[in-house]
Amino acid sequence: MHGKCLCEAIEYKIEGALGPVYNCHCSKCRRWHAAAFRTRASINKNQFVWLKGADNLTAYKSSDYVTKFFCKTCGSPLISTYDNKPDILGIPLGGIEGIENVEVQAHIFVGSKASWHAITDSVPQYESWPGSEDAVRQTNQ
Ligand SMILES: [Zn+2]
Ligand SMILES: [Zn+2]
Repeated sequence: MHGKCLCEAIEYKIEGALGPVYNCHCSKCRRWHAAAFRTRASINKNQFVWLKGADNLTAYKSSDYVTKFFCKTCGSPLISTYDNKPDILGIPLGGIEGIENVEVQAHIFVGSKASWHAITDSVPQYESWPGSEDAVRQTNQ
């Protein structure tokens, strides 16, 4: 799979399969993507390679543990890194081409969902991450 930013200054490739795919409705993802939610997967750092433009990246530390990388020319969100999980990257699916056989596994942080967005599918919904103790809500049971 390959991906790139809007201005195409930065390109990357991903080898192997994506980890679980979630639609994250948290307020930070909504603001970062300026969208109803962020569709994202986790991958191992060794699956990911910058093909060009890595010197055009800039970063924003969005919490104590999370750093968001984006293109300094066009602003496209690219990867997230986690100080507490250094082997893992978070990546938004919207910029990746060549994705096959991937299904969204959960809506997460639905308590922060935009009031103007309705979730109309039957994908399970969680208040935080699936598997955490406050994963309380599921639809269409
Ligand atoms: Zn760009
Ligand atoms: Zn989020």
